[in-house]
Amino acid sequence: MKKNTRAISTPYPRGDAYGALSMPVYHCAAYEFPDADTMADSFCGRSSDPDYSRVTNPTVIHYENIVKSLTGARDVVAFNSGMAAISAVAMALTGAGKKIVTSRHLFGNTYLLFTSTLARFGVKTDLIDLTDLKAVEMAVDADTAMVYLETVTNPQMEIADVAAISAIARRHGVPVVADTTMIPFIYTDSRALGIDVEILSSTKYLSGGATSLGGLVIDYGTVRDFDCILRKDMLMNLGGYLNPHAAYMQTLGLETLDARYAAQERNALEVARSLDSLAKETPGVEVCYPGLPDNRWHEACARQYGGRFGAMLTLTLPDYAACMRFINALKLVRRATNLFDNRSLAIHPASTIFGTMTPELRASLDVPENLIRLSIGLEDAEDVAADLRQAIAAALKTEESVK
Ligand SMILES: *Cc1c(COP(=O)(O)O)cnc(C)c1O
Repeated sequence: MKKNTRAISTPYPRGDAYGALSMPVYHCAAYEFPDADTMADSFCGRSSDPDYSRVTNPTVIHYENIVKSLTGARDVVAFNSGMAAISAVAMALTGAGKKIVTSRHLFGNTYLLFTSTLARFGVKTDLIDLTDLKAVEMAVDADTAMVYLETVTNPQMEIADVAAISAIARRHGVPVVADTTMIPFIYTDSRALGIDVEILSSTKYLSGGATSLGGLVIDYGTVRDFDCILRKDMLMNLGGYLNPHAAYMQTLGLETLDARYAAQERNALEVARSLDSLAKETPGVEVCYPGLPDNRWHEACARQYGGRFGAMLTLTLPDYAACMRFINALKLVRRATNLFDNRSLAIHPASTIFGTMTPELRASLDVPENLIRLSIGLEDAEDVAADLRQAIAAALKTEESVK
């Protein structure tokens, strides 16, 4: 069966006594056993009977099973946020004296997790240019615990050559861990690209319109003992398992993922085209969307990610003040963080997500003061484009009149 059918028709682990059409939400902390032996079997991993919802829950398992079916992974573990998933994987694979090889172009909290939180436990991080394969070759050594990359970086939109990086990592016996939040697994053959462990924030596309927080770890079975360490060690000892209500909402989100993604992507392209034609005749304004054929990352994105480009784009304006005026002038597009809500969203990353960092650190992470990040939603694209165009005009007009 194909992916949409599997997303909608994967059976529940044990059926349902009442024939409920959607997976019931098992909002319970613990489970009762008929006798001592079945209880012991569950706790010692000899049966798959659930015992405690920090470790296993039927609603969450159903959600994990659908993702397993869609990806062909050996195991899928659902966490209560993208960051919980990323930290569990980083702690499972690294340790004191070990090194992470990655880029400066990282989700802000992932950058801080590696360079601050894990650094306190003796983990080192090499921040290199992952689009420079020689730099990757130089950085990966005997102490390297993982090469970590984001398939499309945010907000730089950088798209590295994943298969080439993976070939280098494999020669050194080092796993490749990829954050694939921007292009969901239904479009990408992660195994063929050489990704060993895939992580994503299901808060974004999967949750079905920003309904809940969540993260997924997709384990392709190529890292020795990883499944065991992740489930037995990270899930049990750190906590962070997804809650059943969020699993229910994200299961519904998975059922409509392909339809929503296609519609958002169509809108993003239409908006990008509209803004790009304005930008081409307006000095100081630029649009970056990998779906535009002349975009720097277009070919790499199309080749690796099934011809999908997502619904995030960025807009460069003349300066910081113009960005502030742009944000303030928006009427339809919402001033909010997050990506892939049903609503279109705009944020100025330098003053918000990266706002507490020093200007020097922000500059080194390539988060410019004159950049706006947009996430295009499911409204009619003409309305979104019109709002963005009037906000650009307002941002520039004031600049002229001030002069
Ligand atoms: C949002 C995001 C995260 C973090 O996910 P949360 O669910 O907010 O914890 C990690 N990586 C990327 C690329 C993201 O966009």
